[in-house]
Amino acid sequence: MAEMFYDDDADLSVIQGKKVAVIGYGSQGHAHALNLRDSGVDVRVGLAEGSKSKEKAENEGLPVKSVADAVKEADVVVILTPDQVQRTVYAEEIKPNLNEGAALLFGHGFNIRFDYIEPEAGSDVVMVAPKGPGHLVRREYVDGRGVPVIVAVEQDASGQAWDLAKSYAKAIGGLRAGGIKTTFTEETETDLFGEQAVLCGGASQLVQYGFETLVEAGYQPEVAYFECLHELKLIVDLMVEGGIAKQRWSVSDTAEYGDYVSGPRVIDERVKENMKAVLADVQNGTFAKRFIDDQDAGAPEFKAFREKAAQHPIEGTGKELRKLMAWVDTSQDTDYTEGSS
Ligand code: NDP
Ligand code: MG
Ligand code: MG
Repeated sequence: MAEMFYDDDADLSVIQGKKVAVIGYGSQGHAHALNLRDSGVDVRVGLAEGSKSKEKAENEGLPVKSVADAVKEADVVVILTPDQVQRTVYAEEIKPNLNEGAALLFGHGFNIRFDYIEPEAGSDVVMVAPKGPGHLVRREYVDGRGVPVIVAVEQDASGQAWDLAKSYAKAIGGLRAGGIKTTFTEETETDLFGEQAVLCGGASQLVQYGFETLVEAGYQPEVAYFECLHELKLIVDLMVEGGIAKQRWSVSDTAEYGDYVSGPRVIDERVKENMKAVLADVQNGTFAKRFIDDQDAGAPEFKAFREKAAQHPIEGTGKELRKLMAWVDTSQDTDYTEGSS
């Protein structure tokens, strides 16, 4: 069983005694900054010149500074910019302005695990990674609850890095739900594997192949969309509530029997072999290098993937069908080819 931490295992006064700079005010950044402030922590936000997020942070009454100025004031620097820009922000704006002994805190281990950031020996290097999107991290905190976090220490220069990490995890509400002790290596490798093999890559490809199989066999795309994409949410909700067992308990006996008969035919041993190859590329840094090299070149491969994916017929079918479903929020619907906000 993993080692767990809860509110009683952490001392909030550790982080309340520090000046904290949150760099980036996106999905995670806004949630961390606001939860810290509401937990009585002295927090400022560091953003690049002309940042789109600046007004949002100022409207919350948070002090907004350049990254350099925020870092100069800080005992703890929280790096919550996108992973692909962290190494440049660190090299150009954080490292030259970092106070002696100031700690670095991450929400994901990518840049440390793959050595894109190599911190000074005098810095504590810790991670507090919520297992949910930033908007949930904020909403749960406001409601008096929290999103579980995983917590790691890569470098313990002060001898007190664990106290800092746990105190921070408590301040953002994570220890109300619970914290799991991990390492930067375990967090980074499992996170990348999970999103590639199962959550994003695997699930998207499974849905597309199912849709294509029905449409190519002459069935209507609208019906195929419901069967292969829309209903997935109902199944996943059941899994989250009670595991695969609850999903099988809830569906019809026909569906449950078909699950046992055809699941292993569709996702067979070869798929597991493919997953092992994906994991190997995560572990040996091949994936990280391909991603960062492409980003450094202006992301030509990434943009081409995105464009091609947007042309898949399931997207057009879904866009029309979602208009019929009053309970599905389509108010923000775009072609989603410009990436996340
Ligand atoms: P977002 O893309 O939502 O937010 C990025 C923020 O960084 C924006 O405020 C952006 O400003 C700012 N930014 C971009 N470039 C720079 C720069 N050069 N200098 C200063 N600020 C910059 O990021 P996420 O919150 O998704 O991710 C942050 C970290 O959290 C990552 O390490 C990620 O892996 C991790 N994480 C994310 C989760 C999630 O649910 N999204 C879950 C768990 C961990 P602007 O608005 O101007 O573009
Ligand atoms: Mg991830
Ligand atoms: Mg059915």
